[in-house]
Amino acid sequence: MTTDCIFCQIVAGQAPARVVHQDDLVTAFWDIRPVAPVHILVVPNRHYESLREMGEGDGAVLGRIVQVANQVARQEGIDRSGYRFIVNVGPDAGQIVYHVHFHLIGGRPLGPMVLRR
Ligand code: 5GP
Ligand code: ZN
Repeated sequence: MTTDCIFCQIVAGQAPARVVHQDDLVTAFWDIRPVAPVHILVVPNRHYESLREMGEGDGAVLGRIVQVANQVARQEGIDRSGYRFIVNVGPDAGQIVYHVHFHLIGGRPLGPMVLRR
């Protein structure tokens, strides 16, 4: 755990959050500023600064993240309507919190992906 990391604190139960799932590898909780009716963050319990730090040795946790995202999508009733599952990596992507997190977003038509020139 990195003590000054807000997501490490949420994982450890030391900062408040609306947690919807927790297991030995992964925690999922509501984003504090949702951009859609469903906006949940899925994070590894272990601190990785960004997706850049993850690789071959992290198959188990990455697999669990996908499994939990799909399970939470079902729980929230958006598995049929659809959702986006995205990661911001680094400054150009607008990453703000440097504990890797996957945004599960849905509950309304999301429009095209933002791919500006
Ligand atoms: P990023 O831009 O790094 O991909 O996204 C960071 C996300 O974390 C943002 O959507 C922001 O609203 C959310 N966030 C930042 N601080 C907190 C917090 O303390 N609690 C929760 N639940 N979400 C947070
Ligand atoms: Zn952390």
